This record gives sequence, structure tokens and C-alpha cells, in this order.
Amino acid sequence: MFNLYNIIRPNVQRMKAYSSARDEFSGTASIWLDANENPYPSDYNRYPDPQQREVKRLLAEIKGISPDNIFLGNGSDEAIDLLFRAFCEPGKDKVLLFSPTYGMYKVCAALNDVGILEAPLTADFQLDVAKALAICEAEKPKMIFICSPNNPTGNLIPQDQILSLAHTFPGLVVVDEAYIDFTPEGSMLPLLTANSKLPTAHSPLPTKNLVILQTFSKAWGLAGIRLGMAFASKEIIAIFNKIKPPYNVNQLTQKVAIQKLQAADELRGKVDEIVSERKKLIQHLSPLEQVIRIFPSDANFLLIQFQNPRHVFERMKEKGIILRDRSQAVPGCLRITVGTPAENESLIQALSQLENRPFTLSPQLQERRARIHRQTHETDILIELNLDRRDQHEFSTGLGFFDHMLEQISKHGNIGLKVQVKGDLHIDEHHTIEDTALALGQAFLEALGSKKGISRYGFLLPMDDALAQVALDFGGRPWIVWEADFHREKIGGMPTEMFYHFFKSFSDTAKCNLNIKAEGQNEHHKIEAIFKAFARAIRMAVAKTGDDSIPSTKGSL
Ligand code: PMP
Repeated sequence: MFNLYNIIRPNVQRMKAYSSARDEFSGTASIWLDANENPYPSDYNRYPDPQQREVKRLLAEIKGISPDNIFLGNGSDEAIDLLFRAFCEPGKDKVLLFSPTYGMYKVCAALNDVGILEAPLTADFQLDVAKALAICEAEKPKMIFICSPNNPTGNLIPQDQILSLAHTFPGLVVVDEAYIDFTPEGSMLPLLTANSKLPTAHSPLPTKNLVILQTFSKAWGLAGIRLGMAFASKEIIAIFNKIKPPYNVNQLTQKVAIQKLQAADELRGKVDEIVSERKKLIQHLSPLEQVIRIFPSDANFLLIQFQNPRHVFERMKEKGIILRDRSQAVPGCLRITVGTPAENESLIQALSQLENRPFTLSPQLQERRARIHRQTHETDILIELNLDRRDQHEFSTGLGFFDHMLEQISKHGNIGLKVQVKGDLHIDEHHTIEDTALALGQAFLEALGSKKGISRYGFLLPMDDALAQVALDFGGRPWIVWEADFHREKIGGMPTEMFYHFFKSFSDTAKCNLNIKAEGQNEHHKIEAIFKAFARAIRMAVAKTGDDSIPSTKGSL
């Protein structure tokens, strides 16, 4: 059961808020000598209203909610930061995110020393509610962040999915609706109040643990004034107010916001134009050969998977068109904001011209990557592999020793590798290790593509107290030779019989020959040497030769 007082940080609960001069007296007077301001009149010599009453009054009318349910901050980024500071104990508490998503949740968590639990979105970027609930049950996060429509994927998350989480989860569910005005689906705001116009089977009552974030930076066209909104129960809003800096929204911002709110009916026209331009971009960009896929969007941007995103990014930059490279978050993807009709026209033209030009991308800019999401009843595996960029390396298989071995592959293979596995470890380690190897092999197969320009072979003989030899050929046929005996049943919780199985499974799906031999006394050294040698062999085999041909007399691999 959700109880706000179980999740608020005890120091926040105990502390007394700062009370500013303008909080203590806000009536009318002729002489103000209470705030150490400069007495000589100018437009700005007085502090602004710390509670932004007029902005909230106008906003409350538009949103159909009471001003007491509204917090205003220096962008919704301020609300995100305050949530961490109000509810998460540094070094102890955790939050759950659905990746890929907006980067500030992670940044604020890191800044506040709060643990991050990540549940990958499904292949079509939706929530896996059952999995999220299982993580909540096991790890007890304080807050769940859901971005809907999600940045950078662009899709809306259905309300009933969010509600089914909110109704079971005993912490806060934060729904970031920064892009909500670009979708025909309504906001979740009505669910905050008792007189909800949208009672659902799930929600006849206000949802007490819901915090909804919105912003003036997107549909309202006011990113420059830095004004964000959080909507929640009066009790939660009171906590925001208790810990916020006294004058967090300046007078210029309040003034512009009031003008815009008074002319709120102008908003719809601009938003409709952006939505129809979004459609136009989809129509014109979909047929381009460079474009692999445009993901459905409910926002003012498109996530587009390109044959070669780096090439597109660089060529557009040369033309003065700046796109956002999100390929670290979703392989192969750039995020493109919908511009004015003229800007979109220029973009369409520039991208179409690119099609007519020979593919001149220098080999250094072409990245070979793959994202594999493999789901069975036994395991759920997400692998992101980048053979040309090392900056991503993350491992969570539930088996510490296995993570350590995978880390060897990334480090010594000089490749970017992210492996997230939720496996049936309560049964044993078998499926987790085998399926990871299968998915990893598949990732190599996909990332290597035609295998043009690769060295193809790799081998190494590193020596420790152990001697390990791994010879490898990405030649298109699976084969394994394994000559390595282990005399212990397990090393670091990993069954030694699974080592052979790991490499066999990898060779099956990567379609490579592996010839592995090892000898030595120390079992830990022996297997670590094998993984390191394997990594070095990969590094040699995937290295680019600089010659763009297929390394086979057959002409294909
Ligand atoms: N949430 C999401 C999903 C965003 O994409 C952004 C900004 N890009 C924000 C919040 C922050 O918005 P603000 O300008 O209000 O700080």
C-alpha cells in the first residue's frame, strides 16, 4: 500500500522549510522594507512571487485541477531533481527506469547517489509490466519513471499499463508527459483528482502515488523561459514546496507564462501544424534507401533507423542541419525534431540528395553494431554490440563471475558490449549462460554483416601460469574444438561444464570456427585466460584491413 510518509526521506520530513519575506507577507502595502531589496523602482527590483500564484491560477483553469496540485520549477528538470532529493536516501535507495529513455533521470540518480534499476522496453518500446513488478518486488525501488510519449523512442505508453503498475507499486510513479500535447491521447491528469472525468475500471479513485510532469518547453514553445510543471496530490506538492529554492521561478518567466496562458487558444494551431509536418516527414523520408525504419511517433520528433547513421549525421552537419545521434540508446538511430515547414523541406531535400551521391563514408565512420533482444520462457536477454566503439560496457547476468568474463570480451576485444540478462537462475545457471552465448553469437553475425574488409582470422597465445590458445575464423561455418579440462565443479558460481557450452553456442550462432586449448594449474586463471584470448582473437578478426573486399576467394562468407 502506498503511504507517502513511508517513502519521504526522514530528514525532509523533519526539516523546517525556509520562509521567505514574500512567503510571510503577500498582501498589499505601500512600503516594503522586509526583503533587503533595492528600494529604487525598476521593473525588477522586487523578488518574484515565490508561489507563482497567478501562473498557477491560470494553469489550474486550463488543466481542470486545483492550484494546490501544481508545482512549478525551473524546467521540469528541476522537478525531477527535487523528486530524488525528497524521496531517495543517497547510497541506499533505488529507482526503476525503462530504458532507453530521457537521460536526466539517470543523471539525477547518479548525482544523488541513488541506485538505478533498468528494465528494457520491449522490442516495440512498451513496458513489460510483469517484469517491472518482479523487479519492484525484489529490489524495492522508491520511484518508477515512465516517460510517455517516451524520449527518444517517441511512442506513448498506454495508460492502463501505467495504472496497473501504479496500483500495485507502493512508491511513486512519475509519468513524464513532456510531449503529451502532440498526441490525441489525453494526459493522465484527470486521474489525480477525485472528480476524475476519466474513471477507468482500474481507477475509480484518485491515484495518490502518481506524479505527472509537463513542461512549457515543447508544445508551448517556451524552452527559453525554463518553466516546468509537476502535478500531484496536495501532500506531494507540499513536499516540493518545502524543499524548493525560495524564488525558483523568476519574475520574467512568470510574466511571459501569464501572457501565454492568457492566449492559450493559440497553442492548438501550432501543435496541429507540427503534427501534420510530422506526417509529411514520415511520408517523404520512408522511401529513402538510407532509411531502414521510422518508429511510430506521438511526439514532436521522429526516431529513425538509418543504414548508416554516422554518415547521415555528418553529411547533414556539413549542410548546417543538426540532428541528434541516439545510436548509443537505440542502435542505428538518429532523433530528428519536427521543424517549421521550410526547415523540414530543407531536411527532406538534403536527405534525398544524399541518396544520389555514391556512398563515400570513410571506413572509420561506419559502425558495425547489433541489438539483439532474445526472449524465451527461460531467459530474457538484451545485447548491444558495437565493434567500432568501445564506450559502452555494462553487464548484468545475475552471475558475477560470468559478468567478469563478459567484461574481458569487451575490454580485450576493444568493443562496446552491453549484456542484460534476466534468467531462471532459481533453476540453475545453464539457460542463462547458453542463451547469452547464442544471443552474443547472433549479435556478432549481424554486426559483421557482409564481412567486407575484415581480417577474418584471429588467434593468440597469452601466457599466465596458464597457457590459453584461441584461434578463430568468422568464415561462416560453426565448428568448435575444445581442449581444456577443469577439475573444479564451479568457479565463482559458474559451472565449469558451461564454459565449453558457452563457446559452442557462440560458434553456432556467430557461424565461426573456434579452436580453444588451455592448460595450467590455477582454474580461475585458466578460464580468464581463455576469455581474454577469445577477446583478442575477436579483436584481430573484426579489425578492418582498409581494403573493402570480402576476405575469401569464394567472394562471399
Ligand atoms: N522530460 C523529457 C522527456 C524531456 O525530453 C525533456 C527535455 N528534453 C524534459 C523532461 C525537460 O524539460 P524542461 O525543459 O522542462 O526542463
